[in-house]
Amino acid sequence: MKINVFGLKAGEKVPFAFAVPAAPYNAFLADGEFKSEIKVTGEVTLAGDGYLVSGLIKCRKAFVCDRCLEPTEVEQTHPFAEKYRQDGVADDEDAVPFTGETIDLAEMVRDTLIAAQPIGNLCREDCLGLCPKCGQNLNQGSCSCVIEDIDPRLADLKQLLI
Ligand SMILES: [Zn+2]
Ligand SMILES: [Zn+2]
Repeated sequence: MKINVFGLKAGEKVPFAFAVPAAPYNAFLADGEFKSEIKVTGEVTLAGDGYLVSGLIKCRKAFVCDRCLEPTEVEQTHPFAEKYRQDGVADDEDAVPFTGETIDLAEMVRDTLIAAQPIGNLCREDCLGLCPKCGQNLNQGSCSCVIEDIDPRLADLKQLLI
């Protein structure tokens, strides 16, 4: 994932596109698996004394839903924007230094991808999960269980009324 910035003129935007196997990234993922390829597209611009690199990382993640326990695969898109500076040319503290004429995106892509992973894995935002009584997947239909949701303080009262 290397971009050659030799001869890039100020303001000029140069597009790039990479696709790399997803498997090596799974070493950094504890709660699922990236499938197929990680795709990175974007553009590089010479902005002032640094290079602005921005774009999108696309991947496919397979995991088990936290609520309904169904195996799921989702497409993810993660934007990125990073500033790079040529070693010795500028000393912008916020920019990532690189040597020579080539910017290697590998580290930034890996860090962005891992940091962008949600804390929980859901098959969909409003996943209904499983019935706590019979284990029925409530996304696939309701069960006939009656879930009594009574405040324990009211339970005594209910007992008195009986
Ligand atoms: Zn689910
Ligand atoms: Zn049930």
